[in-house]
Parts: sequence; structure tokens; C-alpha cells
Amino acid sequence: MQWQESYDNAGLQVGDLNAEVHKALICLDITEEIVDEAIAKSCDLIVSHHPLIFKGLKHLTPQSYIERAVMKAIKHDIAMISMHTNLDNSFLGVSRVLAERLGLKNLHILQPLEGQLRKVVVYVPLSAAQEVRNAMFEAGAGCIGNYDSCSFNAKGQGTFRANDEAHPYVGEIGKVHFEDEVRIETVVPNYLLNRVISAMLKVHPYEEVAYDVYAMENEFTQAGAGMVGEFEIAMDELDFLALVADVIGSPSLRHSALTGRKIQKVALCGGSGSPFMGDALHQKADAYLTADIKYHDFFIPEGRMLMVDGGHFETEQFTKELICELITKKFPTFAAVIAETNTNAVHYFVKNK
Ligand SMILES: [Zn+2]
Repeated sequence: MQWQESYDNAGLQVGDLNAEVHKALICLDITEEIVDEAIAKSCDLIVSHHPLIFKGLKHLTPQSYIERAVMKAIKHDIAMISMHTNLDNSFLGVSRVLAERLGLKNLHILQPLEGQLRKVVVYVPLSAAQEVRNAMFEAGAGCIGNYDSCSFNAKGQGTFRANDEAHPYVGEIGKVHFEDEVRIETVVPNYLLNRVISAMLKVHPYEEVAYDVYAMENEFTQAGAGMVGEFEIAMDELDFLALVADVIGSPSLRHSALTGRKIQKVALCGGSGSPFMGDALHQKADAYLTADIKYHDFFIPEGRMLMVDGGHFETEQFTKELICELITKKFPTFAAVIAETNTNAVHYFVKNK
């Protein structure tokens, strides 16, 4: 799982990776009712956003809903897989769909992941440079923001001497050879590193390829928490709150004191995004929409930003459609249905006036 946070337990929860599946039920949370829905709809796979098993289970008894759901799934041969922080951290993930529903433009990640990038440097004879470069690009190297095929190429001379056991592509055994080469350097996200290296090795003509992989300190702007975007036209705070309530279908929103400023730049993070409040302030967002905000945190903006708690389920609800879309795009003939069971653990009591 490439972008999973250290505390997470995403991935296969129940089932056998080698088993064949035919139909998936997509949901945000797995409950017993969700397993019932999967059984009723003849689904042999449940794909959820939140993992059902977060901490270890010490026994499987009907004691908790988690254990009951796991037992029922196993009994009915239903596998379970969860996306969670892998999808939270994706540029195409949870926060992006929320941003798009709100109509925000010019989207970028609120807190990009660190330590995700590698620089790959490879030395290639002139005649093979083009082919090696292209193979690396096709495997996913060389993407920076809205640009692909990014590399730097410097010509120079490489030296080598082959021993008796070698089968050199050029040069003679036992003699130091000078070869005109290109030093190709390009950037690769860590999760694609093996793919890029194998693609490069496959087309590189040398028996022993000289290449280096460096860890980079740069942020990876294609993955991370939350999203920042802008409205084309700034709006009043109350209009913004009404829009949010409308889009996420919430009967009430908790928010910090109104600031009196217009809302144009909005930071958001579907689910528990309090840890990124500082990033939202740093980005000079007019508003920060997330969930699970603690009481004292509402004091922090001090008029610099409107903080809005839209509810955990509400701000992540569009993830179901997103997962369904991603699955059907990748496996067009595979059946995936969105669960009808409402799994929101939070209920609202709205008193009639
Ligand atoms: Zn969540």
C-alpha cells in the first residue's frame, strides 16, 4: 500500500488474495448491515473506505459489531478490502471529490507527502539514450506537476574494463574502453521505482548497467492530505456555509466565529483533518472545511480563517462513488455497486422551531 499512513490498517481485511471475485459492494464503513446487503446482492467482495479491523482482533466472538461482521463475511465467503489513507493521500482521492462537488478550481494538495520521490540517474551509450529515456517515461518517471517526460541529459565519457567472464556490449576484454554516454537523470515516485528500474534495465544494452538512486527531500505534490482550491467568485461566509450544508446534505454545521471576510480560497480535508489546520492557515485559506474538530481548536484561527466541521461521514460520503468509478474504469467488465445502507454513525436531532 503505497501511501498508507503508519497508523493505518488498509488493504485486505478478510479473504484470500488469490481468490477470484465477481461483484463488489462499495461502502464507506463496514457494518453488519453492510455484510447483509452484500449477501442480498450476491457480492463476494466488500470494498470500504474505512478499515473494519483497525486494531488487532484477539478473538472472533459475537461480542462486537466488528467481530460479528468478520464472522458473517467469512461464513458467506465474502472478502473485504479497505482503501483508507491510501485514498486520502491520493491527488484523485477523498478531498478532491469533495472540492469538485463544492465547485473549487485550481486544486492542489494541502499537505504534500514527504520522502516519496527518488532521483534515478543512469549512464547510457549515445545510440540507446532515446530508447532508455522513453522506457523510463512510459513506466512513470519524469512527471513534475502538469509536465511529463522531464529529464536532464548530459553527454560525457564512461570508462570500463571487462574481465574474462564478461560479455561486453562494446570494447574488448581486458582493455579499458572509453564510450560516449549520456547521463540521464529523472524523477520517480518511490512506488514506481521498481517498475521504472526494470523498464530501464530491459532496454539498456549494457551487461552491467551503472545507475544510481537518490532519496529526495522535495515534497511530492501529487499525493498528500487535503486539498486547496479557489472559487471563481468570492462569496459571503453565510453563503459558503449554506453551500457546504447543501453539497454534503448536512442539517447543521459547526463553525468558528465568522470573520467578516469573503470566502474565495478554501482548504479542505475529508474526515479527521484537524492536524492540517496549521497548513490551511499557512496557505492563507479563507475557510477550512474538515471534520472531528475539537472544541478548543475552534479558537485557533482568531479571525484569520473560518473553520467548518462538516461531519466525518458527510465530508467523505462521495468516496463511495469515487471508489466505484476507479474500479469500473480499471476493470470495465467487473460489477461494482454502491451500498444503499447508510452507515453514518452520527445522527442529528433537529428540533422543530
Ligand atoms: Zn474517514
